[in-house]
This record gives sequence, C-alpha cells and structure tokens, in this order.
Amino acid sequence: MKKILKYIISIALAGIVLSGCTGGGSSYIRSDRGKKDQIRLLLVKNAGSVDVVVNGSFKIDGSSDASFGPKGFNVDIDNNSIVIEGKSYGSRVKIIPVNNKFHLNGNEFRGSLVFYISDGKLNAVEDFSMEEYLYGVVGREMSGSSPIEALKAQAVAARTFGYYEAGLRRTKEYDIDNLRQSQAYSGTESENPNSIEAVDLTSGEIMKYKGAPIFAAFAANCGGYTEDNREVFGNKLPYLQAVPCTFCKHYPHASWKEEIDTSYIVSSLKKKGFDVDRISNIDITDTSKAGRVKQISIITDKGRISMSTNEFRLAIGSDKFKSARFSVRSKGASLLFTGKGWGHGVGMCQDGADGMAKAGNNYRRILTRYYSGIEIGQK
Ligand SMILES: [Zn+2]
Repeated sequence: MKKILKYIISIALAGIVLSGCTGGGSSYIRSDRGKKDQIRLLLVKNAGSVDVVVNGSFKIDGSSDASFGPKGFNVDIDNNSIVIEGKSYGSRVKIIPVNNKFHLNGNEFRGSLVFYISDGKLNAVEDFSMEEYLYGVVGREMSGSSPIEALKAQAVAARTFGYYEAGLRRTKEYDIDNLRQSQAYSGTESENPNSIEAVDLTSGEIMKYKGAPIFAAFAANCGGYTEDNREVFGNKLPYLQAVPCTFCKHYPHASWKEEIDTSYIVSSLKKKGFDVDRISNIDITDTSKAGRVKQISIITDKGRISMSTNEFRLAIGSDKFKSARFSVRSKGASLLFTGKGWGHGVGMCQDGADGMAKAGNNYRRILTRYYSGIEIGQK
C-alpha cells in the first residue's frame, strides 16, 4: 500500500481537480489494430533526447540492418528526424528487443519501444500487452503482501480502468497517457510474483455496466464511507454510489491529524491574492451525504472567505490534507484538522479490499461491494 501513496496524493483530493478528466461516461472504443490486448502507453512527452539501454539484441523495425546490441544509446532529433547512433530514421521508429525488455531513462519496461516526433519534440511509447501493463500497475497500487483476493480485485479494477482510459483518450500514437497518472505505473520495478499471479488469475476480466467498461475509480482508504462519483468527479454514475465500509478502519490511514499555524494559512491565502491579516477559525458550511467537506468559510479579520475544500487544499499545500473527510477546531495559534481516510473515496477502498479479503471474501464480492450493479466478465 505504501507505493500507491504518490499517486493517491495526486488523484486523492485532487480527484476533485481532475473533474471532467476522468469521471466521464464515454463508451469503450474497441481497439481496431487486430491485437486487442496490445496497448501503447505514452512514457515520454516533448523530450529533446532520451537514454535507452537494451540488454539483449534488438532490431529496428523497417531497417535492413542486422540486429544490434546489447547496448546503451542515446536517441535524439536532428533536422526533424530521429537519430540513433548517427543514423537517421525519419519521424517514427520502432525498436524491438528480442527479450521483450528495455530500459528508458533508467527504468525497465516490457515490449517494444516506439519513438515519434510531434511538434519537433521526441515522444516515447511502450508497445506491449495490457496484461503486462497490469503486472506493474497492481504491484505499484497495492502491496504484494496483500491477500491474493484483494490483489485480484485490484487487478480487475486496474484492467477496467485501463480499457476505459484507452477507449476515452486514445490518439493516433498511443492508447494511454502514463504521464496523466491515471494509474500508477513505472515499469517492471514494482512487479512482484503476487501482482503477476493476480493479473494472470483474472486474465481479461473487467467490470461492465450495461455492457461497457466502467470508470473503475479506487482510492487508498475511504475512512468509513466511500463517496458518490458526482461529489468528486462531477457526474452521476449509477455504479459509483457512496457505500459504508467497515473493513478499512484499523489501517494506518483510517485517521489523520494535522495542526497548522494560522500564520501559515494567512500567508498561503495572501499568496493566492486574498486580503487577510489574521484568521480565527474555519466553519464547515457544506458536506456530502457521505460526510466529506465540500465548502468551508474562513473567519478572518476582514470578514469571511468562502471556498471549496479543494481550493483550500491547493492554497495551503496538498500534502497537508489526506482526505476531505475532516473536522476543524481552533487550538491556540493554530487550527487542528482531524480527518478520516486517504484519497477521494470514490469506488474501491483499497484498504477495505485488503480487509475484506482477510475476512474471507473473494475478489468478486469485494468488487460488487464497491461498484454497484456491475457485471464481471471478459472484456
Ligand atoms: Zn474503506
């Protein structure tokens, strides 16, 4: 679970920020490239050059040259053409490692590596299978020591999310933009035997609603109640309703406290352009049915300032707020925030999935608890 934190922080309350980006209801567009399980993942965008290492031999697609390597080399652009070791390959080139692995800027990845030029800059795409992608995602999103049924639930959620993303945002050159941090993925470094087993045991399985892959949101710890998609991402989705969750309450991220100096809050608000010299307290003025704070009113020497939880979080620093499920009170020269959970709370609670699996539930029961009215089947 520790490895997911960077992602969860970014999408967590930030889920609110991503409104309109990931909460869509668009239908899945099936790949028309013949290999339906192959995906193209954007790894590097708008670069000047990148370092590649291939530890086995490799071929360059379309080149009449014999195979190369193993070797390390630099890929860059000259005269609007991709250049590898002094040789020019035009605006697009595919490197095919014989052992199906390569290193890019220090991380190891699977499959083939495609470079293309866009707006005069270099972009790199990993061309591999969805299942190989999931080996890395599951290993990054959930601890390898979690029960296999929790890992299987994570695998199905991640696979569903992957196909949903590919259907929503694929372009001519790639299916999923890894740089948007849709799901945490950094190559093979996070794979482990259990993450691979969980993916293999659920091979090809996704969650569907009315026949289409769902927006399979998930977050670290819901703090006792998941959140309705509409409250975070803006649109009502029948399968992403707020549901109670008792399985995550004994986990480290089930509760949090943050004491923040009022002088720090004042300086943060000043940086955002607010005319304020002192604050005395914060009132919570609107909460979701599931108990997350939507709107606050800051009591200042110049009157009240009303803002959304997300605006406030961005003003004072996103690292100080693990969730929108909090209360606040004045404590001397500071404000004490007391909260529950970690993340936006929409969809599967990852700690809850771990807890449900430890209580003897299989991955199907876990998923149907957090995603209402869905079917689990082959893509
Ligand atoms: Zn939970």
